[in-house]
Amino acid sequence: MVTNPFQPDDLFRTRRMVADQIRSRDVRDERVLGVMECTPRGHFVPPSRREQAWLDQPVPIGHGQTISQPYIVGLMTEKLDVRPEHEVLEIGTGCGYQTVILAQLCRRVFTMEYIEALGQQGRANVEALGLSNVEYAIGDGHKGWPTKRTFDRILVAAAAEQIPLQLLAQLADEGKMVLPIGPPSDQQLMLLEKTTGGVKQTLLCYCRFVPLVGE
Ligand code: SAH
Repeated sequence: MVTNPFQPDDLFRTRRMVADQIRSRDVRDERVLGVMECTPRGHFVPPSRREQAWLDQPVPIGHGQTISQPYIVGLMTEKLDVRPEHEVLEIGTGCGYQTVILAQLCRRVFTMEYIEALGQQGRANVEALGLSNVEYAIGDGHKGWPTKRTFDRILVAAAAEQIPLQLLAQLADEGKMVLPIGPPSDQQLMLLEKTTGGVKQTLLCYCRFVPLVGE
């Protein structure tokens, strides 16, 4: 039997979540807000966690991992400055929520997950929504996408102790990357911009992400 992933009050709760937690803070990009308003977060969390899906916090998704706080997803997506023609690499598919947000804003998303079972679940969640502009890989995101190529934008959803240089090598010239950096107790969300003069680094905020494992 085919089940509709959208439950009747999902859209209402999602719109309220965006208004109360994201729009009311400092995320202003209407494209990002619009896409978040029509992406029901309840679809992505385990059924036992559905009631927590719209809270202003990360929610466990199994395997010791979490779906990021909605505000952080909004902030990272806005700062990534994703345009319709872009190809975007995402490290940390997780449940696929951020993947679906990105896939509605750009040409193609390439998403990598370290934990195979989560990668499969994330893929199933994305495909259930009918999105076909997403490529999937299982592997260690420190090393970047398995084939040699570059991306216009890179978003990392888990914290590395230092900037992963193999990943940075896959960022195109003029590209932007948003990622958390640092040990669990002292992480900074950073925006990196690759210019001809080097890599410009901007601190966005202090944050708390699960660690980028492997390497
Ligand atoms: N964007 C996800 C967030 C998941 S949390 C969502 O919306 O659900 C971070 C994810 O990064 C976890 O699924 C974790 O397994 C994954 N991860 C951790 N280290 C990784 C690595 N080295 N390579 C790829 N994925 C990694």
